[in-house]
Amino acid sequence: MIRLKTPQEIEAMKPAGALSKMALRRVGAHIRPGVSTAELDRIAEQIIRLHGGTPAFKGYGGFPASICSSINAQIVHGIPSPETILKEGDIVSIDTGAVVDGWVGDNAWTFFCGEPDPVDRELCEVTRDCLKRAIDLAVPGNHLGDLGAAVQEYAERHGFGVVREYVGHGVGRVMHEEPNVPNYGRRGRGTRLQAGMVIAIEPMITRGSPKNETMPNRWTVVTKDRSCAAHYENTIAITDDGPVILTCDDEGPWCAMEGGVSA
Ligand code: MG
Repeated sequence: MIRLKTPQEIEAMKPAGALSKMALRRVGAHIRPGVSTAELDRIAEQIIRLHGGTPAFKGYGGFPASICSSINAQIVHGIPSPETILKEGDIVSIDTGAVVDGWVGDNAWTFFCGEPDPVDRELCEVTRDCLKRAIDLAVPGNHLGDLGAAVQEYAERHGFGVVREYVGHGVGRVMHEEPNVPNYGRRGRGTRLQAGMVIAIEPMITRGSPKNETMPNRWTVVTKDRSCAAHYENTIAITDDGPVILTCDDEGPWCAMEGGVSA
């Protein structure tokens, strides 16, 4: 069942979205060669708790950390570790979620650690633009298939792969609600969007084949061919006035792609 939100409830979700974005942005500002992903996790948790939130991921299904940190061939659900040290040229997907006043925010961004390989840079720019294209279509009357088709066509036109096994989702008082929001599909198919739906749109796009496997830690998803993957996500409210990006702080809904650029 899709739980529609009233305009008041959508308003009440904004602090959770803003804090999720703030945590994501702060983590991005600390991405540089030599930093461990455990340190990034500590930064995110501290900011979320300092502002009266709770990390949405910590303990979710047993997940041990406040962020997912997925490097290069890791697609999603990378577990932060003191042993995982970022190095020059890595692309680093960070996923943060915060709960404020019982509402959830969820967002992700792939940052560059130093200067990435040019094709990895293109992969990230295309994935980010897939997200933008899907957000533009998140209006009442459109179908989820319109969003999925837009992501799939744009990614595949650039020669990249679309992950099928992991998808976006409804967001509310719990992190994963109905409906599923796939990054592939056909125009005019799937659930029809209506005002009051709140969804996380999160394209996961690969440089090579999108086939993937889960590591022995039972969380981290990697491409089978070990090609790089990118992941961008925002939580969006569908309203009669158009899409409202809830994961938006004072600096706006987007992050810089380069890590370590702002305090
Ligand atoms: Mg999500």
